[in-house]
Amino acid sequence: MLAEVDVAIIGAGVIGLATAREIAQGGKGVFVFEKNRTFGLETSNRNSEVIHAGIYYPENSLKARLCIEGKILLYKLCDKHNIAYKKTGKIIVAVEENEISWLEELYQQGRKNGVDDLVLLSRTELKKFEPNIEARAGLLSPSSGILDSYTLLKFLYSQAREKGAKFVFDTEVVGIERMGAKYKVQIKDRDGISAFVAHVVVNCAGLNSDKIAQFAGIAKAGYKLHYCKGEYFSLDSKYRNLVNRLIYPVPGQAGHGIHWRRGLDGRVLLGPSAYYVEAIDYSVDEAHKQYFYNSAKGFLPFIKLEDLAPESAGIRPKLQGPGEGFRDFVITHEEKTGFPGLINLIGIESPGLTAAPAIARYVGRMVYEFFN
Ligand SMILES: Cc1cc2nc3c(=O)[nH]c(=O)nc-3n(C[C@H](O)[C@H](O)[C@H](O)COP(=O)(O)OP(=O)(O)OC[C@H]3O[C@@H](n4cnc5c(N)ncnc54)[C@H](O)[C@@H]3O)c2cc1C
Repeated sequence: MLAEVDVAIIGAGVIGLATAREIAQGGKGVFVFEKNRTFGLETSNRNSEVIHAGIYYPENSLKARLCIEGKILLYKLCDKHNIAYKKTGKIIVAVEENEISWLEELYQQGRKNGVDDLVLLSRTELKKFEPNIEARAGLLSPSSGILDSYTLLKFLYSQAREKGAKFVFDTEVVGIERMGAKYKVQIKDRDGISAFVAHVVVNCAGLNSDKIAQFAGIAKAGYKLHYCKGEYFSLDSKYRNLVNRLIYPVPGQAGHGIHWRRGLDGRVLLGPSAYYVEAIDYSVDEAHKQYFYNSAKGFLPFIKLEDLAPESAGIRPKLQGPGEGFRDFVITHEEKTGFPGLINLIGIESPGLTAAPAIARYVGRMVYEFFN
């Protein structure tokens, strides 16, 4: 007889952890399978740690709705449980004259999404907020901030465990097979291959989530992930106190643009870049330094090329390939596809960290509807 569990979650990034906490606190048995030796070693630990306001995404998209709900939940969670954060505020800047209309569009988009505290800034107003920034105009988002993502991950992990979720590390899910109303989840660990039975499977496998859906037999072309790498460069500590807020350029095609971010530890990072890659490789190419410098010097005129140093990289699990338009998060109970009890989360790129508590609630409701 194979061991049986109510809910198997694949992946212990921020989405798997938040979902495990949510489902376990409702009283269901939860197993989380993670291929790495511990939680949060992939995208959830390789990002800007920005709490996004919810400006950029189309109205009513999951990205917009879950970002805004997640932001509110995240600030409350941080306050209640002493998770370090700072509501720094953020300014998106127009460096060129033709970018000013972009700020106005973002302002309108944010308002449509329900971000009602945005303020358009003239050059003079911008200079009052950030005297060292050079730009023609700005869009201030007071509700944006930064957090310590590792403390958040650790908190979600320990709360999920306290509520009864069991974590199985160093264990990779290598197959999913429908068995009547349940699923046989094949796992590979250092002892070889074995299996588990689960009533519900929640696919939170980040960069591998399209492959997990395929394992289960869902071969939708629309689920294919494209990897989009983002590198960071650090700036010399002498710049630390020159700018207080997060400073972003107007967004690019694949990312939010190379921004200025001072972390809770005071260190300043520039990044992330955005370019498509075939394989997962977290090295930072020093040859990209000039590109970072060129991208940022327009609004950070005080930086010097020699003060940039390679820092880290993350990879976005994107549903849109190069040159393609907006794609929303896929968060779907695959009942209609013929897989009741299988919940796929695919393409959970930015603002996934911000949205995590809201995504967990959203998935939690799907799971409880299924059991009732
Ligand atoms: C460069 C960059 C900057 C970003 N900046 C921000 C930001 O500032 N703010 C924001 O809100 N969001 C940001 N994001 C997005 C955010 O980081 C992600 O949306 C979020 O971390 C996704 O979490 P996850 O749990 O889905 O994925 P992950 O953290 O990748 O977790 C997935 C887990 O699944 C495991 N797994 C995979 N396959 C298997 C398998 N077969 N068996 C068992 N385990 C498996 C992996 O090992 C991994 O631990 C950024 C992302 C990037 C790349």
